[in-house]
Amino acid sequence: MNIPKVLGNVVNNDLCIGCGLCVYICPNNALEMKWNKYGFLIPELSDKCDSNGACLLVCPFNPFPNKEVRTENELAESFLKRAPKYHKRIGKYFDIYAGYSKEFRLNSSSGGIATFILSELLERGIVDNVFCVKESTKKGVYYEYGVSHSKEELINSSKTKYFPVSLSEVMSKIQDLKGKIAVVGVGCFIKAVRLAQHKKPELKEKIPFLVGIICGGVKSSFFTEYLAEKSGVLKQNIEKPKYRIKNIESTAGDYLFGCINKNRQSEHTLRMRSVGDMWGTGLFKANACDFCDDVTTELADVSLGDAWLPPYDKDGAGTNVIVTRSFLANEIIQSGIKDNKLVIESLALERFLTSQQGSFNHRHLGLSFRLKIAKKKGFIPPKRFNEKISFSFMLVQRMRMIVRRKSLELWNSNPNAVVFDKKMRKFLLFLKYLTKVYHYWGLKKRKK
Ligand SMILES: Cc1cc2nc3c(=O)[nH]c(=O)nc-3n(C[C@H](O)[C@H](O)[C@H](O)COP(=O)(O)OP(=O)(O)OC[C@H]3O[C@@H](n4cnc5c(N)ncnc54)[C@H](O)[C@@H]3O)c2cc1C
Repeated sequence: MNIPKVLGNVVNNDLCIGCGLCVYICPNNALEMKWNKYGFLIPELSDKCDSNGACLLVCPFNPFPNKEVRTENELAESFLKRAPKYHKRIGKYFDIYAGYSKEFRLNSSSGGIATFILSELLERGIVDNVFCVKESTKKGVYYEYGVSHSKEELINSSKTKYFPVSLSEVMSKIQDLKGKIAVVGVGCFIKAVRLAQHKKPELKEKIPFLVGIICGGVKSSFFTEYLAEKSGVLKQNIEKPKYRIKNIESTAGDYLFGCINKNRQSEHTLRMRSVGDMWGTGLFKANACDFCDDVTTELADVSLGDAWLPPYDKDGAGTNVIVTRSFLANEIIQSGIKDNKLVIESLALERFLTSQQGSFNHRHLGLSFRLKIAKKKGFIPPKRFNEKISFSFMLVQRMRMIVRRKSLELWNSNPNAVVFDKKMRKFLLFLKYLTKVYHYWGLKKRKK
């Protein structure tokens, strides 16, 4: 793959997450997002490149960032000046809450707060356009970033899509869009937008609000193909995949995947519990996610995730955890409570940390081990966590890395769920065993 030397440090080192901001910023239009063989979107280069390096300045995984944008900490200092509180694991913030929107909850993935905030921004005239993830009309592409202008469009684009998307096309339309823009995105995409705002200060006014989606990892398109096949739909027949169908009779974690078989126009669903742990194992995950230490989307105006903690997790209708980081975001939440549009309570910091504990363990605690391995292969962006971990946790990290890579290689060579499950079994069993050993020693140590 021929990528300019600067961006090559990211793409060839498998650290590109596909945000597409490089495509937008390139003054020569030398880059275009393309699907790679592992089901991820990455930039491809044309001969228009003059190696000016602008692309790297907005890359969230730039191994050589300037001092003032070195990590999320420096960017937060410049973009979230007014946030009065700080915690090293969650960044700068105003307040933390848990709750849901009365109007949008049932049509959303968690509590519908993302759709609520975005619709408030449109209604108040703070923005005129929202960059969010919508159904795509492109062949074999289920979802992509699009522009919404109304509450109805926001409702249609709500819900979590575990599918690779890129901001390249919507960002490239920015000059033609009248009015201001809100962007919704996962941590690395939000970081890329902040880097673009740093490089082009006029974008700060054009994009006055960022809604952050707390992310446990970006999945390859293989994830959709695998789940669809498990539910009885082959790749060529997949239509309208849905990743978070709520089971309101059950718990929040007991959600379903579903899609339509376009051949028969039949609906197929799959209880996610039946496929085992697709998150902690790293199956079908982008390599870059293993080198992201921004668990809670620290650079957004507001960060939203699932309230994976009691009593909220018992409610299948879904509940958000909410971290407000700008004055406006906090005011929107407060007004929503006062106007009886939101059912929200304050959440203690410790409880919020518990709700994302798995992600903190992997992305902060386990990072030092992965960095050590990765640095032998190439340049890695500067990271903020370098914690000492036990030998048993190192083994878990090693195995997760193997599982992640194997899952992509296996599906690429033979996209068949039966064969995949059979071949992955030994790796997943070994990972399970190593995790048990790690927990056993951890418990023993805590008892001492
Ligand atoms: C890849 C991914 C991984 C996640 N991992 C975790 C996790 O580990 N822990 C956790 O607590 N929460 C996680 N979430 C967040 C969670 O699933 C919800 O999206 C979040 O709680 C907001 O819920 P809501 O009901 O307020 O959103 P809704 O009201 O349903 O709105 C969701 C908004 O997100 C946008 N969106 C959907 N898919 C994407 C996407 N791929 N990229 C950018 N924007 C998108 C939609 O367009 C919509 O505007 C993840 C989300 C994604 C997309």
